[in-house]
Amino acid sequence: MNDLMVLNVDDYHNIHSKRRADNTTISEVHHFRTILLKAAPGIPALPFMNLHTGKDIINPNGIDSDIIIENVQHSIFPHLWLTYNERKLAFARELPEASNHDEHMEMLLIHCYDNRLIQRRADRSMNNTKLVNLVEGSLRSTEDYIKALKNVLDVPELKSYLEQHILAAPMDYPGQFYVRCAISSCLNSGNRFELSPLLPHIVPMIGPLHVSLNAHEIVFMFNYAFFNKLYCEVYMKKRPLPKKPKPYRINLLLELAVGGWNMIRVAVINKFRECKDIEVRYLLDLLDNISPLVLDFYPVIFRSGHWPAYMDALFRAWALFFRYGRKHYNKLPLAFFSDVFYWFNTQHPMAQVIEQNLHLFNDYYVENFHSSLHLQTHASNSPDQIIRQVKNIDQSRGNNTFKETFSEPHNIVYMENELEFMKKRTATFLLKLFIEVHNNRGKTVIDTSGRYNQPKYKLPSLETVVDAKVLPLAWNTNFPPKADKYCDQEGCESSHTFGCNLACGHSYHYECFFIDLSGQCHYCHNYLTEGIVNNSRIFQNSISCLRELVLEEDDTEVNVDEGDDNERITLDTSINITLSNLLSSFNDL
Ligand SMILES: [Zn+2]
Ligand SMILES: [Zn+2]
Repeated sequence: MNDLMVLNVDDYHNIHSKRRADNTTISEVHHFRTILLKAAPGIPALPFMNLHTGKDIINPNGIDSDIIIENVQHSIFPHLWLTYNERKLAFARELPEASNHDEHMEMLLIHCYDNRLIQRRADRSMNNTKLVNLVEGSLRSTEDYIKALKNVLDVPELKSYLEQHILAAPMDYPGQFYVRCAISSCLNSGNRFELSPLLPHIVPMIGPLHVSLNAHEIVFMFNYAFFNKLYCEVYMKKRPLPKKPKPYRINLLLELAVGGWNMIRVAVINKFRECKDIEVRYLLDLLDNISPLVLDFYPVIFRSGHWPAYMDALFRAWALFFRYGRKHYNKLPLAFFSDVFYWFNTQHPMAQVIEQNLHLFNDYYVENFHSSLHLQTHASNSPDQIIRQVKNIDQSRGNNTFKETFSEPHNIVYMENELEFMKKRTATFLLKLFIEVHNNRGKTVIDTSGRYNQPKYKLPSLETVVDAKVLPLAWNTNFPPKADKYCDQEGCESSHTFGCNLACGHSYHYECFFIDLSGQCHYCHNYLTEGIVNNSRIFQNSISCLRELVLEEDDTEVNVDEGDDNERITLDTSINITLSNLLSSFNDL
C-alpha cells in the first residue's frame, strides 16, 4: 500500500449504441458511478506535504495565471512560431512511431477503448487495476462527486493511505470542476458539506484521452467543409459526411489528411513560402499544425511519456480550444499548468514523478473497464444485473486481464495497402485543391457587414464561409496580417517581400522578427496571455463560488453516424502515375 496509485472516477450508463436515438427511451437509462484504482508497483506513493519546504500539493493561489505566464514565456512561447510538425522535429528521435501496420491501426482506434485490441503498450495494460466500487447514481453535481469519493474514503486501507499520501485523479471536465469545487469548499468556505479533511488529498488533473477526444471533435467540426470535400473525393461519395461522425471516423479522416499531406508537404510548403493568401495560410495551419497535433496528442505524445513534448502539445491544444472558443476545455488545461508549475516551483515530489511517469496519469483505465462492461451487458439489464456483472468481471480477472468475451466480430481494420492507397488518393485530392487555391490567390472575400463587425471570410476554393477563429491565430489578434504589405511588424517601412511566414499566420522580415521582436510574435503572445489571465480567473471564480456551471451534455457517444465503419474501397494501381503527374503540374505552376 505504499506504491503510487491513480484514481479514475467516471460515469457509466447502460445505453447501448443504436442506429437511431429514438429507439432509446430515457426511462431505460441507468447511470452508475465507477471508482477504479490503478497501482504502479515500484513507484513510491506521493506525500501530501513536502516536508522539506512545509508546502503541500495545493497552490494557495488557486488557478494562478502568473505562474503559468512566467513559465510558458520561457518554455513554450519561444517555439510557437513553428508549426506542430516543425516543432516535433526537435523531439522526433525520442517519440515512438508505429513500426508496423498493427501498431498503426491501434493508434487509429484510440477512442474505441476496446480491450479486444491486442495490448502492446504498458499504459494500455489493465494490470494492477482494482475496482473500488460501482454504484447506481449520476455524476452531475458536487454532491454526486462527494458521494463517489466517499467510496474511497470509506475503505479503511485507502483512508489510511490518504492520511499520508495523495491520489492523483485524471478526469474529464465535469469531474475536474466538481472535485475542485468540493476541495475549495473544504478548504475555504467553512466546509459546508462537512467534508472529510482528507478530500484535498485527492488531486484532480486533466485526463489526456478527454483532451484528445475533444480536440479531434473540434478540429473536425470547425473544418467540416475541408473534411467533407476530402471524404467525398477519397471515397467517391455524393452524399455528404455526417456532421457528427463517430470518433473512429474522425480519427481516420485526420489520419488520411495528415498521411496524404506528408506525401506532398515539401512541394507545397516550397511553393507557398512567401504567400500571405488567407486560404493558403488556413490550409497550411490545418495540415501542418493542428491536424497532426490532435492526431498525435494521445497515442504518440502522451504515451511516449516525453514530458517537454507533452507540455508543448498540451499548450498548443489549449491555444486551439481557446481560439475555437471550446467551452470548458478553453480553461481546463490552465488548471493543470498552474498545478504543475507550482509543483516544480516548490519542488514538490509530484513534479519529478509526473515528469518521469507521465503515462500512468491516464483516464484510460476506466474507459477500458466500461468498454468491457458494455460488451458483457445488454440494454435491457436491470441495475442489479449490471452490478452483478461488474462483480463477475472484477473477480474473473484472476490473471489481471479482463475476461475477453466478445459479442461482435471485429470490423474495424483496413489492410495496410488499402490505407496506403487512401493516403495517396488523399494526396491527389490535396494537390488538386492546392492548384485551385494557387489560382484563387487573393480572392478570399472578407465580409464585415455582419453583426458586431465580426468579419466573415469566404474561402474561394473550399467554397465556404468561415469566422476568424477558424483561421490561424494571427487573424484572431488585434493585429491581423496585412493584406497590402509583406511585413506585419507595426512601423516597418521596408517594402521587401521576403522573410518568414510564421505558424501563427503573421509574416515578418527576418531582421524585424529575429532582431526587433527577438524571435517571438508579440501580437499572438499578447492574445494568448490575455486568454490565460481571463480564463484562469473565470475558472477560479466559478470554483470558489461553487457556481454550478450549466455543463454541456456529454453526447459524444450518441451515434448519428449511419455509415459503415469500413467502407470498402477498390485499389487502383494507376494512383501512382496520377499522383506523380499532379505533382509535376503543381510544381510547374
Ligand atoms: Zn519588416
Ligand atoms: Zn503571430
